[in-house]
Amino acid sequence: MMDTWIKDVKNREHAGKHIALKGFVNSIRKGKNNVFLILRDPSGTLQCVSHAGDPVFADMNRLTRESSVLVEGILNEDERAEGGYEVKVSGLKIYGIAEPFPIKKGHKKVFLFDNRHIWFRSRKVTAIMKVRSTVFESIHDFFKHNDFYEIQSPSFVSGSVEGGSTLFQIEYFDKKAYLSQSWQLYAEAMVDSLWRIYTVAPSFRAEKSKTWRHLTEFWHAEAEVAFMDLDGIIKLEEELIKHVVRNVLEKNEDDLKLLNRDTYVLKNTLEKPFLRMDYESVIDMANQNGLKLEYGADLGSDEERVITQKLDLPVFAMRYPIELKPFYHKPEDDFKHVLCNDLLAPEGYGEIIGGGQRIDDKDTLIRRIKECGLDRSAYEWYIDLRKYGSIPHSGFGLGVDRLVMWICKLPHIMYAVPFPRTLRRINP
Ligand code: ATP
Ligand code: MG
Repeated sequence: MMDTWIKDVKNREHAGKHIALKGFVNSIRKGKNNVFLILRDPSGTLQCVSHAGDPVFADMNRLTRESSVLVEGILNEDERAEGGYEVKVSGLKIYGIAEPFPIKKGHKKVFLFDNRHIWFRSRKVTAIMKVRSTVFESIHDFFKHNDFYEIQSPSFVSGSVEGGSTLFQIEYFDKKAYLSQSWQLYAEAMVDSLWRIYTVAPSFRAEKSKTWRHLTEFWHAEAEVAFMDLDGIIKLEEELIKHVVRNVLEKNEDDLKLLNRDTYVLKNTLEKPFLRMDYESVIDMANQNGLKLEYGADLGSDEERVITQKLDLPVFAMRYPIELKPFYHKPEDDFKHVLCNDLLAPEGYGEIIGGGQRIDDKDTLIRRIKECGLDRSAYEWYIDLRKYGSIPHSGFGLGVDRLVMWICKLPHIMYAVPFPRTLRRINP
């Protein structure tokens, strides 16, 4: 049997009726003549009251913040109570009395993440996780409704996709191996048979610089599509983001409210086409906003923060100079630029997707592997894919935690993840 949730009974229809609810004590106020407790479940909170003389009054007085209970009683309309309803408690079952709860208002970030296991109960954390759940659900449902197959790639790998500096090396019996940074090379092997594929899985990167948007383990939604060019993959990315944002606005209105998320930009994202700019125009825009970048400069967290701070729509930054991107991007205009796109989220958030068209010609691929100083022997099987009826194809990787961070407008990516892993944190 499903438990009854607070949000489903806090209404006219249930007023005057006997209800039973499980939950945790969000807060409690004890007086000589009455006890007021705010009961919390995943769906919300509800005030419960008991008066001196009630049979449950003594037990109500034993309760402490974060104790767990089953409360029974009549639901009454009461405009003095938060949300307009209150339960007059006539029955109480105590599951567990809580010891003094260590988390109070105003604690610093480090303390809170040290206590993530219990801080997780906070209503704001719960709201973020509910949005996160909608984001994951929406990603799956977007791909399923667009004729994609869901398929998996290994997490133990022997070569690098995104470059050696962020590879996590591990012992693999008597050999060295690495944790996967992206499914991409495997996806390109699988796309020849399935044509439209996606995965949602963790990726691992040994990010040695400390920024507000880098985890060492993050959730990566990746897609690869046969016979698709840069323009096609950009359209697909835009549809995916719009689909996710639309679902969150529909399903998580209360959560966004609890997080004080102003939804203007999210609504705008739904209604208008995303901006598109080539790399050079992005640099110009950065410099108009006070940066002093030369053509050829890479864009990191700080630069993208400035570039996107005033935007109220996501922007596709396209066609970067070839030196700035990994070897697999398809070159254009005599190897000056590549057919890539980064999708930058507005409001200062920056890159949430990296994607583009892949090299489909064998000789070009071999040339790029050489130019990037990579060991060709590790990529022989990847080069093979260009030997047997090679096709144009494109793909992308979306950082799901970054998307949640932006949608909820969080100050750091750690807030978007249940138990974040960073340079400094692997506990709890
Ligand atoms: P950045 O420049 O921010 O390090 P990237 O260019 O290395 O990003 P990609 O290799 O294109 O990123 O990966 C695809 C997507 O995966 C990124 O757009 C981002 O959303 C997400 N991503 C990449 N690295 C991380 C990370 N360390 N933590 C969280 N998300 C990440
Ligand atoms: Mg990176």
